[in-house]
Amino acid sequence: MASAARVDLDGNPIKPITICMIGAGGFIGSHLCEKLMVETPHKVLAVDVYNDKIKHLLEGPASHPWLDRIQFHRINIKNDSRLEGLIKMSDLTINLAAICTPADYNTRPLDTIYSNFIDALPVVKYCSENNKRLIHFSTCEVYGKTIGSFLPADHPLRQDPAYFILKEDASPCIFGPIEKQRWSYACAKQLIERLVYAEGAENGLEFTIVRPFNWIGPRMDFIPGIDGPSEGVPRVLACFSNNLLRHEPLKLVDGGQSQRTFVYIKDAIEAVLLMIENPARANGHIFNVGNPNNEVTVRQLAEMMTEVYSKVSGEPPLESPTIDVSSKEFYGEGYDDSDKRIPDMTIINKQLGWNPKTSLWDLLESTLTYQHRTYAEAIKQVTSKPLAS
Ligand code: NAD
Ligand code: UDP
Repeated sequence: MASAARVDLDGNPIKPITICMIGAGGFIGSHLCEKLMVETPHKVLAVDVYNDKIKHLLEGPASHPWLDRIQFHRINIKNDSRLEGLIKMSDLTINLAAICTPADYNTRPLDTIYSNFIDALPVVKYCSENNKRLIHFSTCEVYGKTIGSFLPADHPLRQDPAYFILKEDASPCIFGPIEKQRWSYACAKQLIERLVYAEGAENGLEFTIVRPFNWIGPRMDFIPGIDGPSEGVPRVLACFSNNLLRHEPLKLVDGGQSQRTFVYIKDAIEAVLLMIENPARANGHIFNVGNPNNEVTVRQLAEMMTEVYSKVSGEPPLESPTIDVSSKEFYGEGYDDSDKRIPDMTIINKQLGWNPKTSLWDLLESTLTYQHRTYAEAIKQVTSKPLAS
């Protein structure tokens, strides 16, 4: 419950504000709306083209104390003149809207670039012109590949953190060639980051840029054929969940050798709330938000998810739980990959005192319990239907 005595990190009382949250109906937006409604007195103007993931907050029984603090606006920010009015009515704008599934980067590069750069331009402009604070969601993918990935496989410097730890104010952004269209997303995100930063430097825009490192948890993406297109390819958590729910082997792209650090969505949302409520500490900064302790290869992730899913569902794992697939077969022409993503946590620690708490095993256990509870029955019904003749 919202309490009147909430204070910021410097001991000052936190005043209720109005937040224009664009992309509020997505995975991160739904968790952020939930946190803001349940734990704070702030108001949210939730902008998205979908609202399925926040319906429980918008409709709920009249006893929900937040019903007058959240409003849904079904707006496509590509072409809707109401956007500026909503930004003007708010103290803070948070922009989460994006195409952000890797399967789209090389197959729909134009939509990817428009969504992540062109469509974000008016949001930055309205914030700057109206002196409104902006929290813009970028990505860890702006770092691209690590410096170490260009060294021979057995080179000792590959073990040196200077060659792989990703630092907001020091690491370069290293992308592949243009024909590797995978990098269309990273490049668009990098350019919008530079624009936001330049608005801060030249016009005094108060901004914070967030670089999420593989946030995962309930409500992420969709399960193909259940609450998303049958042929759709979501991010790895939903791909592997789908395989587990359907008792199919998990597909390891190019051997599953890439490494990722996964952070629990609920830990990451704590960091965003600190940014919202501590503007003096967050403005002008770019923050990595991830969990450097939860690093695995994609193969190890598949093995752990198989083990955890068996525990939460009570079903035995398949005899051969994984299968190798080439990136060309899985994603098509123009795919490429980030080799390794470990966030440096110095800046977020110093400014906001934030640290992630949840281990990979624990976050997979709560997430896969949710996936099983939400989808197992629906999958059973779909897979038991006779094929149409
Ligand atoms: P998501 O796809 O679940 O949410 C994005 C939301 O934006 C969707 O609900 C979508 O409908 C909405 N949207 C897109 N275009 C829109 C438009 N033109 N008008 C109105 N709404 C629009 O993705 P997410 O995981 O919640 O990611 C949110 C942000 O965080 C994105 O900017 C993404 O690039 C960034 N990010 C997330 C992760 C992660 O780990 N989840 C990692 C890196 C970056
Ligand atoms: N991946 C995989 N099998 C899948 C889906 C993804 O091996 O079914 C790999 C993908 O090639 C990448 C990693 O998992 O190396 C993470 O993919 P995700 O889509 O979550 O996004 P990314 O972290 O690359 O932005």
